[in-house]
Amino acid sequence: MTDRYAVIGNPISHSKSPQIHQMFAAQTGQDISYEKIEAPLDGFAATIQRLRDEGYKGCSVTVPFKFEAFKLATELSTFAQIAEAVNTLKLNFRGNTILGDNTDGHGLVKDIRFNLGIKLNQKRVLLIGAGGAASGVALPIMHQGAVLTIINRNAEKASNLATHAGNFIDKLPIEANVQSYAPSGCSFDYISNQKFDVVINATSAGLTDSELPLPPTIFSPNALAYDMMYGRETPFMKFAHEHGAQVADGLGMLVEQAAEAFYLWRGVRPDTAPVIAALRLT
Ligand code: NDP
Repeated sequence: MTDRYAVIGNPISHSKSPQIHQMFAAQTGQDISYEKIEAPLDGFAATIQRLRDEGYKGCSVTVPFKFEAFKLATELSTFAQIAEAVNTLKLNFRGNTILGDNTDGHGLVKDIRFNLGIKLNQKRVLLIGAGGAASGVALPIMHQGAVLTIINRNAEKASNLATHAGNFIDKLPIEANVQSYAPSGCSFDYISNQKFDVVINATSAGLTDSELPLPPTIFSPNALAYDMMYGRETPFMKFAHEHGAQVADGLGMLVEQAAEAFYLWRGVRPDTAPVIAALRLT
């Protein structure tokens, strides 16, 4: 029997998740269906209940429902607890529970470490933003042994995220020979005289083509500038390119976080490289 899955958001028409999961399913021989569902802004919980009643096995959750999904889940992975946001639900897990996970951090780290071939251990990493996406990736970045600085337009949110992530350092098994450092959270002013090996844009500034107030001297030689957005060149990517950084968009992260969700649901790890390559062509 075909197992049913879906991605839930509002709006949702832009989502590439059905394409990604259908490619994973074809590649691994898994008998699943995966569709887009636009839930009403006040109807996320009711939509999840309907899916549970109809026997869906799981769903991906996107803007603006990741925080509601966190509240709805009856069991949470460590990464979801840290992020206080959920992007993957496993429905009717062990009979009647809803398992919530956050695979964004895994997706970002895997893309940087394996697809782009850049180790984060001992690297100075700047994370720009303190919203849902930044919350999901802060600790996984530290877990790689990076020295993390978080800045945000609203500096208090950056500071809160840094403190919150720092509180979780001991809750994850740290890899051998990898050290984690407490991050610092601050405003854009703080970085005026600093250089970073990896600069990650986790803001939604690119959606409105807004520029970030970054100093042009921010990139170390051979720095990576990573924008979580994908599908077009953002002002951040253009700025980074003009100032000598290697630039990457968030398409790899999108596919890698989906692969982790697929593994949670199906127990099989798909090969992400051909899926990323296929999406680059569309
Ligand atoms: P949120 O709405 O939760 O957070 C938005 C963040 O962007 C906040 O930190 C906000 O700052 C900041 N921001 C917005 N506009 C500006 C601006 N003009 N200048 C400076 N900062 C700004 O969004 P998410 O965290 O969920 O998503 C952020 C981005 O990450 C989106 O572009 C999303 O598409 C992308 N993303 C990509 C994924 C992938 O798999 N590739 C996965 C998840 C997200 P403030 O707090 O001051 O308002």
